[in-house]
Amino acid sequence: MPLSRSIEILRDLIAIPSVNPGRDGRVPAAIAGESRYAADVAARLGRLGIDATLLGPPHRQSVVGEIHVSDTADTVLIASHLDTVAVDGMVIDPFEPRLADGRVSGRGSCDTKAGMAALLAALERVLARGKPTRNVIVVGEADEEVASAGVAQVLTHLAGRRIDWALATEPTDLRLVGRHKGVVHARVGVRGRACHASIPGEGRNALVTLARCVLALDAHAAGLVQDTDPELGPATLSVDLAAAGHAENIVPDSGWFLLDRRLLPHEEPARVHNEIAALLRQVAGDDAAIEWWRLEKPALERPSGGHPGEAACAQALAAAGLPVRWDVASFGTDAGVLAAHGIPALVFGPGSIAQAHTADEWVAIDQVERASAFFAALLGQTD
Ligand SMILES: [Zn+2]
Repeated sequence: MPLSRSIEILRDLIAIPSVNPGRDGRVPAAIAGESRYAADVAARLGRLGIDATLLGPPHRQSVVGEIHVSDTADTVLIASHLDTVAVDGMVIDPFEPRLADGRVSGRGSCDTKAGMAALLAALERVLARGKPTRNVIVVGEADEEVASAGVAQVLTHLAGRRIDWALATEPTDLRLVGRHKGVVHARVGVRGRACHASIPGEGRNALVTLARCVLALDAHAAGLVQDTDPELGPATLSVDLAAAGHAENIVPDSGWFLLDRRLLPHEEPARVHNEIAALLRQVAGDDAAIEWWRLEKPALERPSGGHPGEAACAQALAAAGLPVRWDVASFGTDAGVLAAHGIPALVFGPGSIAQAHTADEWVAIDQVERASAFFAALLGQTD
């Protein structure tokens, strides 16, 4: 059977490595960074007559393409992040797409090159017949998997532009996701005073202080269940990495740990920061402090008056033979960043999050094709 256009494109995109280099730079240069993929998308948009701009530093580029049909039509921004997670431990060739059993396998097949492939195939179809029915801003953004630097650059580039609503492609099993938690990562530094381990009373053991802080935060985390969202569950806090000490015979004078805090949409990040800082002060005085605090992804909430993209999405889903199913996600996305910027956003895409980031990542072909039919209908395809 001949391949559908969306699957042809997906196969090509998987073969372009775009691994997020992360913060520690351990990813080999040959596969690190999004620029090869950004350039490929820009070239594809260019062939469709869409002006595309590349943004960001040389190895970490994002791409923005715009189709303006009229000043009165609404403007939708569709963002599909370009980066994938690392490929360590994969049991398949990450960049050699494989088609079998109704699936496409490879790194990024599910998260989220399937979303971009579905969108690009839909654009080809719609533009072959004429113009879209709405203004479209196509975004491929770098760095979603770590710090969302790409979407921030895109928003700066688009500053002042009217954007009515946005859709971020992520594996949602073709459900519309309007809500998810936010993600904060923070590093806490702990101080003490070193001395000979034979006279520990002369020092201040930073490892003991660190342990007290971690236990206090764990107790605090247990209390977070009192504020449980019916759909999203409770906010959470976990301490996930720690280090302290130099040797078995030296009382340690310093340590640090990293924590992960998931925010409910109503939680104010600054208030959560102050709450944790106060708790650390209570337990350790000046010996513990938050060294850095990163709101990696703001939470996503459905606008109180309804989502401006809801009717268009419902129509497009129906055209693609799909039911309208609203859902929440357990993970953070760039939709949270867009929403925090004042653009009502939702998340939608083919594939399941259960297949994302896995050792044999795959996506169901049928879901990619349905997502492409959804995008075609959203952009104005009528048959
Ligand atoms: Zn993703």
